[in-house]
Amino acid sequence: MVILRVMTVSSIAQITPTETISASTHGWRAKCLQRLIRLDIPVPLTVALPITTVRQIAQGQPFDSSIVLAQFGDAPLVSVRPSAENPEWGGPATVLNVGINSRRHAELVQSHGAEAADRLYLRFVQSYAIHVARLDPDMFDGTDLGEALRAYREETDEPFPEDPARQLTDVLRSMARAWEGTTARLLRQAKGAPEGAGLGLLVQKMAQGIGQGLSGTGAIQFVSGTTGEPRITGRYRNQAQGRTALREEKALFLTRDPRGPALEDANPQVFADLLRHGARCRSHLREEMQIEFTVENGALSVLDAVKVQRTARAAVRIAVALVEDGIIPRQEALLRIEPRALSEVLHPQVDPNAVRDPILRGIPASPGAAAGRVALSSLAAQTFVARGEPSILVRRETSPEDVRGMHSAAGVLTERGGVTSHAAVIARGLGVPCVVGAGDMRIDVREGTLTLPSGRVLREGDLITLDGSSGEALVGALPMQAPSLDGEFRTLLDWADAARDIGVRANADTPSDAEIAHKFDAEGIGLCRTEHMFFDEGRLTVMREMIFADTPPDRAAVLARLLPMQRADFVRLFQIMAGRPVCIRLLDPPLHEFLPQTREGLRELAEALDRPLSDIIRRAEALSEFNPMLGMRGVRLGIAWPEIYEMQARAIFEATLDCAALGIEIVPEIMIPLVSARREVELVRTRLDAIASAVRTHRGGAFDYRLGVMVETPRAALRAAELTANAAFLSFGTNDLTQMTYGLSRDDSGRFMGAYIQSQVFPEDPFHVLDTEGVGELLLIGAERGRSTRPDLTLALCGEHGGDPESIAFCRKAGFNYISCSPFRVPMARLAAAHLALRERQTPVGERDWRTGELRRCRPDPAVGQEPVLDSAI
Ligand code: PEP
Ligand code: MG
Repeated sequence: MVILRVMTVSSIAQITPTETISASTHGWRAKCLQRLIRLDIPVPLTVALPITTVRQIAQGQPFDSSIVLAQFGDAPLVSVRPSAENPEWGGPATVLNVGINSRRHAELVQSHGAEAADRLYLRFVQSYAIHVARLDPDMFDGTDLGEALRAYREETDEPFPEDPARQLTDVLRSMARAWEGTTARLLRQAKGAPEGAGLGLLVQKMAQGIGQGLSGTGAIQFVSGTTGEPRITGRYRNQAQGRTALREEKALFLTRDPRGPALEDANPQVFADLLRHGARCRSHLREEMQIEFTVENGALSVLDAVKVQRTARAAVRIAVALVEDGIIPRQEALLRIEPRALSEVLHPQVDPNAVRDPILRGIPASPGAAAGRVALSSLAAQTFVARGEPSILVRRETSPEDVRGMHSAAGVLTERGGVTSHAAVIARGLGVPCVVGAGDMRIDVREGTLTLPSGRVLREGDLITLDGSSGEALVGALPMQAPSLDGEFRTLLDWADAARDIGVRANADTPSDAEIAHKFDAEGIGLCRTEHMFFDEGRLTVMREMIFADTPPDRAAVLARLLPMQRADFVRLFQIMAGRPVCIRLLDPPLHEFLPQTREGLRELAEALDRPLSDIIRRAEALSEFNPMLGMRGVRLGIAWPEIYEMQARAIFEATLDCAALGIEIVPEIMIPLVSARREVELVRTRLDAIASAVRTHRGGAFDYRLGVMVETPRAALRAAELTANAAFLSFGTNDLTQMTYGLSRDDSGRFMGAYIQSQVFPEDPFHVLDTEGVGELLLIGAERGRSTRPDLTLALCGEHGGDPESIAFCRKAGFNYISCSPFRVPMARLAAAHLALRERQTPVGERDWRTGELRRCRPDPAVGQEPVLDSAI
């Protein structure tokens, strides 16, 4: 037989300054209230039930609430508040006015009048009926007290409980059980709560916001939750409880306001006390708090204080202000900001108060939001922009031909593709919001229509809003919130730079990318994809001429026309980056990507090149491959058509000398794509060295350059030891490396990736989150073997994974020098890297290599001259 023991008073504690209370025993709110009490802030008498007791109550052990009530004197009214170990984990709703019954109601009628007494009682009857007796909420919606008591009796076959101890026991049990329910469990686990997360419960004496003198209730905070700037906001209502008016009286403004009366004037003492309490909370709880308060006949009580809800932008401003006021150290400010939340700060967002009605859902591929007119072709996007109208480019998928349209568009939406599809990569680089894989829409370019899953048809020119952060499209132009790159944001990232010990560069292909990279303080460019320089109007035609040249000398002649354009591009990049390292990748894509995709385009090309159409078609067919991603691209192109790489190298070297003449010293880095064999690197290097010598002789100047290899094939990782004979750095291109390791097309995997993740074949899309087990092992092998033959080898990662905090952690542990990511992700990467270094410093023994168990440290990036700053002064 199970003997049930009634829990005793020893398991509960009145919160006093000296009582032993902690977040792990009584929950976060209990600890917070104790701190307020210690600060002499007037908190009503509060009794805390520890987490262990609440758990026993949930399991059905008898609990005698009269012991609790006895601590509140005669006929008390109390509230019950949840106190989870961590405030982020939520908890059941607070229940007010426990202890009210017909006798107490009659007394309240005498003291405060029938209207107020009825409303107080009704509030409790409704909460009890819905949350404790689990009756249908609809039955109690809009009822008066009499109707609510009758409905309760009819549904439960018993009168509403009169005994305050029974009421309290029931409320405690229902809250304890609500915490154990499946929904609550899932919700808090989504916020990182562990399996055994505990809940304490607080029983607090009710301070009534009703009386003869100034009485009411409100909440006040001292900073804006949207911007973080100092500003008093909140609410106050006379003769009210929570948000419920007990008598019909107007709400007051908190501070003096021309629109009406304010608490500041109605009771200057109460207002001054609130300011004082707020300031003490800030300096002692080391946080911006919102204070919930009640005034009863002029006497102020603080019922609760919670962290001010805030946007990421406000969080940055608040954290920096706390440091500047000497309240928290820099490390803590950095660790308080979640790196991923920064993307919210860096892009316009849909106003959180806007009404949302999504018409389409896809994969969120580039964050931020934009509104514009539906453009079903790149030309349409450019036409809209020429008219000064933003557009959203909507395509089945994008190809290099669409890049100009993408530059013009305010957002990109595609039917196909995943997070490393062409559209996604380019859009992230441009900082343009993008949603890919919205497979339920139908595009008819000829008809100029976009058919939605609902059957609704949008026409080219209709207004839509694209939310690249949520992966949704919405009809119409929703109101936006602008990005802010204010002083606090910069300050925080400067602190992050002082703390971190892995480099952060940007993937930047064009001067405008480089400007963003520079603005976001990237340490350099880690990947400049030169092909993007050839898609400009004037250059594409020359590029095509080069492709159609009949002999190598003809090809070299056309390339000579591209040379000054390329040189000017590089001069511009070097100038913008002002001496910071720039890593240029030689041409990578298969040549057919530069050719028109349509017959019409081919005809126009024939006209431009003054050749017969049949010629053009024949050459285009000759270039087409069954599997272009595994065909003549990357270094294979460089070896088969060496003139292209030679022209690019000459342009880089000449630009280096041009910049030196301008006082910008630079050691350019040149990177060879898609390498798989030692000889490939050897051949390219020999040619590049020859070009470098020729430029030195011809121009009469001195310069150096660094040659490196992109590790994008498994073989390159496995043979890294021999590649380093000719390579000073290895940069892991994890987009292609993931594609080749899995044998998974980065452009087509979107079709089944959803099903794969749903069936838990893959935990995540490996193009999105680095596969640390498989692809990661190749990274480690490549790094280890590369450094075995060249200890000063620079190691980097420049695939799309570079901006992801988990990938940064992986690279840092493996001793990489830097990661390179889209310019808009640079701030997030800087902060994430700082978190990693700070967390390691907080762990006395340091973080250990996950494979060998050895303590790992990053190496300085020789190009930047950055030393590890583990012991710097922050
Ligand atoms: C890669 O493959 O990871 C890479 C950076 O190159 P791209 O995305 O241009 O193929
Ligand atoms: Mg690649």
